[in-house]
Amino acid sequence: MRKQTVRRAKIVATIGPASWGDAVLAELLRAGTNIVRVNAAHNTPAERKEIVTRIREVAEREGRYVGILQDLAGWKPRTGPLAGDEPIRLSRGQQVEIAPGVQPLAPGRISIEDEALTEQLEPGDRVLIADGLLELVVERREGRHLQARVARGGLLLGRQGVAVPGLRGRPFTLSDRDRADIAFAAEHELEYLGVSFVTRADDLETVRGELRRYGGRAHLVAKIERPEALERIDEIVRVADAIMVARGDLGVQLQPEEVPIAQKRIIAAARACGRPVIIATQMLESMVNQPIPTRAEVTDVANAVIEGADALMLSAETATGQYPVEAVAMMDRIIGTTERHFPPTPALASEAPTTIASTIARAATDIARRWEAVQLIGAITRTGFTAREVARERPQTPIIALTVDPYVARQLALVWGVYPVVAPFAETTEELIDGMARTIVEAGYAQPGDHVVFTGSLRYFPEPGHTDTLHLRQL
Ligand code: PGA
Ligand code: MN
Repeated sequence: MRKQTVRRAKIVATIGPASWGDAVLAELLRAGTNIVRVNAAHNTPAERKEIVTRIREVAEREGRYVGILQDLAGWKPRTGPLAGDEPIRLSRGQQVEIAPGVQPLAPGRISIEDEALTEQLEPGDRVLIADGLLELVVERREGRHLQARVARGGLLLGRQGVAVPGLRGRPFTLSDRDRADIAFAAEHELEYLGVSFVTRADDLETVRGELRRYGGRAHLVAKIERPEALERIDEIVRVADAIMVARGDLGVQLQPEEVPIAQKRIIAAARACGRPVIIATQMLESMVNQPIPTRAEVTDVANAVIEGADALMLSAETATGQYPVEAVAMMDRIIGTTERHFPPTPALASEAPTTIASTIARAATDIARRWEAVQLIGAITRTGFTAREVARERPQTPIIALTVDPYVARQLALVWGVYPVVAPFAETTEELIDGMARTIVEAGYAQPGDHVVFTGSLRYFPEPGHTDTLHLRQL
């Protein structure tokens, strides 16, 4: 029996109190998690160190290449804290005062901890709290304070996110805390660093500069969650290593009906540039409290697969929900079933290959399409580049990434259709390909007699981008 390569789109699972215990974590991986996300906004470096160590141990035990994505907290304006434990009830039509600062919330007074934001507020502005669950409309200014009316009421907890649609956020900055979290990513050799609230390509360069200073080689995931980023999506995808459609925060800034359009635009931009793209937030939200998702959620997951996303993400479902393992298993089933009925959409024909590497990657895919005897594409890759170039073409044939570097194998766990295997690289090209042919059989992905298209670089280069070889052989 050949080892099964059934799923192409990948699963990112955010971990939190519901899932960071040893046993649940192991089950999350077994259910199909490819990338584990840890949000730096919700834990200290000491806690995170423990979590990261545990993820590595469990993945090792389970024999899986699993990458870790750490998101930077970034700047998100928040309300002040609660004075006690009691949430504050806001009723529709009620008058409230908005005050700049971090003083505790009080009935009738809501503090917002971003003076640059409260200064810009004007009558008519909508202030959305807690991902838009609560809404205030500003009525008039009184010095540094504002009077507002509750348009959508409910219970207000402490330190909730605040967003004002249409208002330009403050420029992207790195806090001391973000810098410490970047250093953490470098020190612990995390595979991905999520850059929250990116506004333009330069923000990514800033983060990358800081990361390199600490010796980190994490790939940067640009989280598209501000309208400014959406406007500059083409420059951002060029500089980013991967993209996240961060529908949570983006969906607060945009009108709800604009979110699917933004999602399609972001996927198109990312795919045109060959960048892995992750669809995030509320994919199976109802599974936070229920073992079965809504039909609308199932359809959303299936549609994201059909749209060509590389990976789909779970947030609260796996971090704090009651059914973390069921959520991953459900996502795995939806992806698998959808992919059986919808062949992958190939890279656009209009995107003619423009480099030797992209021409070779497209040719590898063409060969696999032309002859059904070809069971696998073997991407021999030092940096992961060749595997990503091939994945970009969306071949129906599974891609086995053969790399010498376990770090690269874990990083490739995010990429559509790629199954990573670690194997030593021989000195000569001939020995290298012979060795890789054996490796694929030993790993169980193929049997003697199977046909494999190998691709990679004929000569050794330390830097990525030199894919220049195709080799079709029967094992
Ligand atoms: P978050 O990002 O979960 O870190 O906020 C995703 C989103 O905003 O959708
Ligand atoms: Mn967000």
